[in-house]
Amino acid sequence: MPVLEIRDLHVTVETENGETPILNGVTLTVRTGETHAIMGPNGSGKSTLAYTIAGHPKYTVTGGTITLDGVDVLAMSVDERARAGLFLAMQYPVEIPGVTVTNFLRTAKTAIDGVAPSIRSWTKDVKGAMQNLRMDPKFAARNVNEGFSGGEKKRHEILQLELLQPKIAILDETDSGLDVDALKIVSEGVNRAKEQSDMGVLLITHYTRILRYIQPDFVHVLVNGRVAEEGGPELAARLEDEGYDRFLAPVGGEQ
Ligand code: ADP
Ligand code: MG
Ligand code: MG
Repeated sequence: MPVLEIRDLHVTVETENGETPILNGVTLTVRTGETHAIMGPNGSGKSTLAYTIAGHPKYTVTGGTITLDGVDVLAMSVDERARAGLFLAMQYPVEIPGVTVTNFLRTAKTAIDGVAPSIRSWTKDVKGAMQNLRMDPKFAARNVNEGFSGGEKKRHEILQLELLQPKIAILDETDSGLDVDALKIVSEGVNRAKEQSDMGVLLITHYTRILRYIQPDFVHVLVNGRVAEEGGPELAARLEDEGYDRFLAPVGGEQ
């Protein structure tokens, strides 16, 4: 059973002042079929965790381990991580000029599976997945992320999820900037992808709103690069009521 295991992870990022510690010992296990919500105030290190798992070169792991099914993820290139079944939907997706959505997805699928899907079946799969997400068929011929609206970017992420069927999906702020209708469609897509492939989900979010549509099994609150509290869905409900105030240092108080 695929398991993503993060143990005592320490990460620094390069800034003008040298290497700055951002994650200070994060421990987390995500199994197939489980949905984990990573919540926390702005700047607590949520995106850093996502980028580190994905292998972004800006982030340096100074301690701890990340393994997928016992295999060292930190020793893998970004491509190898994707082939191993890790999927990261970025908070700020990049444009890929000259590459259409269909070709991008087919290339990604080929890289992951090791063989290219036949054009005919692939076109059918893409069409079906796009219908599920209520996307305009013309979208398939557009260049990746070029002029995409916020909502289109999110749908494109979820389209990838449905088609690529990763073992573990990391969704960073997938809910940001979506209106309620788009949020529902995107959430349904995630839930459908979960049912189809029994993937594990790491759902990173500042707000509790998306958790009404995607039920987390576990909630972890990240504060200052550490998991400050963990619980079940009831913790998300509590954060919805109380916010993050109790996790933050009192102003003028001694620490
Ligand atoms: P979150 O996603 O929880 O809002 P981030 O992981 O984006 O938090 O950021 C955590 C901290 O690390 C912030 O103080 C942020 O300024 C800093 N940081 C993250 N990435 C970079 C980077 N590439 N360059 C400089 N500082 C960064
Ligand atoms: Mg942020
Ligand atoms: Mg972030």
